[in-house]
Amino acid sequence: VTFPVRGGEWTLEPDDLERYIRDFPKLDVPHELGSARLWLLDHPLRQKTQAGMRRFLSGWLRRSRQPQPSAASPLPSYAAWRCPHREGGDLPLHGSRWACERWSAILEARRERAEATPLLLDPSS
Ligand SMILES: [Zn+2]
Repeated sequence: VTFPVRGGEWTLEPDDLERYIRDFPKLDVPHELGSARLWLLDHPLRQKTQAGMRRFLSGWLRRSRQPQPSAASPLPSYAAWRCPHREGGDLPLHGSRWACERWSAILEARRERAEATPLLLDPSS
C-alpha cells in the first residue's frame, strides 16, 4: 500500500502492516489505513514527510481506538444546554434548544428594530 507524502509516495511494508494489526487487535487496521490514506489525499497541504509517516499512522490508529460518540448519547454541548430565559418564576421558558434559539432570534430582531427607530425619527439626520 502506498501513501501520498510531500514530494512523492511512501510505501507501507508488509512488516509494518503486521505490526499494526498485532498492536491494534480490536481495530480493522486495513480499513483505518484506507481512511488515513484518503485523508492525506484530501489534505495535500497536511501531508507528512517520508520520515513522519510512521508517527502519523500510529497516531491515527491510536485515535481510532477511542470509542466514538454514538447516536444514543447526546453531544456534550446539547446535554449542557439550559434555557436562560425566565418568565416570572424559576421555570425555564423553553423546553428545547430549538425553541430557545428561535426566541433569542426574535428578541435580537426586536432589539435591533428598537435601536434603529430613533435614528429614523431624528429630525437632524
Ligand atoms: Zn430559552
